[in-house]
Amino acid sequence: MNPIIWLVIPCYKEEEVLPVTSKTLKDIMNGIIEKGKISQESKICFVNDGSKDRTWEIISELCAGDDIFTGINLAHNKGHQNALLAGLMTAKKYADAAISLDADLQDDVGVIEKFIDKFLEGKDIVYGVRSKRDTDTAFKRGTAHAFYKLMNAMGADTLEDHADYRLMSKRALKGLAEYKEVNLFLRGIVPMIGYETDVVYYERHERFAGESKYPLKKMLSFAVDGITSCSVKPIRMITLLGFIIFFVSIVMLIYFLVVHIIGHTVAGWTTTVVSLWGIGGLILLALGVIGEYVGKIYMEVKERPRFIIESFIYDGEKYAGASKSKKKKM
Ligand code: UDP
Ligand code: MG
Repeated sequence: MNPIIWLVIPCYKEEEVLPVTSKTLKDIMNGIIEKGKISQESKICFVNDGSKDRTWEIISELCAGDDIFTGINLAHNKGHQNALLAGLMTAKKYADAAISLDADLQDDVGVIEKFIDKFLEGKDIVYGVRSKRDTDTAFKRGTAHAFYKLMNAMGADTLEDHADYRLMSKRALKGLAEYKEVNLFLRGIVPMIGYETDVVYYERHERFAGESKYPLKKMLSFAVDGITSCSVKPIRMITLLGFIIFFVSIVMLIYFLVVHIIGHTVAGWTTTVVSLWGIGGLILLALGVIGEYVGKIYMEVKERPRFIIESFIYDGEKYAGASKSKKKKM
């Protein structure tokens, strides 16, 4: 049987783009259904992220007009990542795979079929990666580049130039559901799930209507969330800094003593300066050590899965998942 594919589209104040977006996506999906690649049960799912404009009205109208559309209405504006998760977790129940994309069609929808082809080849996660960034301003390009560099330096495993345009199979979505953290940074978590992955390259267009819902302020807080939710490296850096300053203070101590003995100083200066450096270093060191434990607590409360079993062989038969009874044979 052909797989059921869901497109999941978070929408925040997107009344201007929805009429065009819905039509474009419907044509594409119907085209792929006609080719016999995916099931007729496939859906286009719009998630209204608590917009106060006509977004939900439009989504409701679309759903009434054609069964290919489904809608999820969030009670509040919870941000792109959470809206996307709400859609993906719903898709997990009905679909064999879900593709997430933005409502403004900045991500080239022409490659949706490529995602599906990769899925049919057996890939569980397919990342959409921008081949070039011509349409972005030099500023956005520069900041985005710096962002990925920083993220990776800080220990978060992200794919450069991949936003949230990706396909995830049902089992990859089930894996994602195991990550129960509230501070959600999908780009950092999805690579942790594992399974077989692949990449589809595409060109990013300009937003055709409406304006970006990601002003600089939101982008910065997104970057901070990304780093702090994936890594405790900043804490390690405090510890390291503490060590360095403490080490420097010892060197300085020797230097100050020499100056003191030679007698080139004002009385009391040596004690003041040495204690300043020494205590400063020790405080940072102590903060770092405490931070290590806070970091451990942080990781514990996230209750992340400790493992995800991909397949299981029993009596020579291979099963998907961890048990032979409930899961399908592979
Ligand atoms: N979005 C959302 N909730 C928000 C902000 C944005 O669901 O609080 C959606 C928005 O409707 C769009 C996607 O997230 O489908 C990406 O937003 P946008 O295109 O404004 O960001 P940009 O492409 O400028 O980074
Ligand atoms: Mg956009």
